[in-house]
Amino acid sequence: MKKRITGKRLYISKQLAEDALIEAHIHFDYRAGGGPVAVYHCDECGDYHLTSRGPMNERLAEQLADGTIQRQKEASQWQGKFKV
Ligand SMILES: [Zn+2]
Repeated sequence: MKKRITGKRLYISKQLAEDALIEAHIHFDYRAGGGPVAVYHCDECGDYHLTSRGPMNERLAEQLADGTIQRQKEASQWQGKFKV
């Protein structure tokens, strides 16, 4: 079975999509209000996608608020793993 490539990344579960959303915020410096903020279930392909619209995902909001993302960001910069 082949999936048509649409240019959007597909996630088979909400959990995976949220993980990817949070990782994106760790690896990239989004300006305030920029970048993907939530995940949604796509009726077309049945998978999950990231979106920059809509209310912020709860897990993302939580980890931004409690500093988890900032700590991970610093950790990954120290490791030099995610040079852009
Ligand atoms: Zn889709």
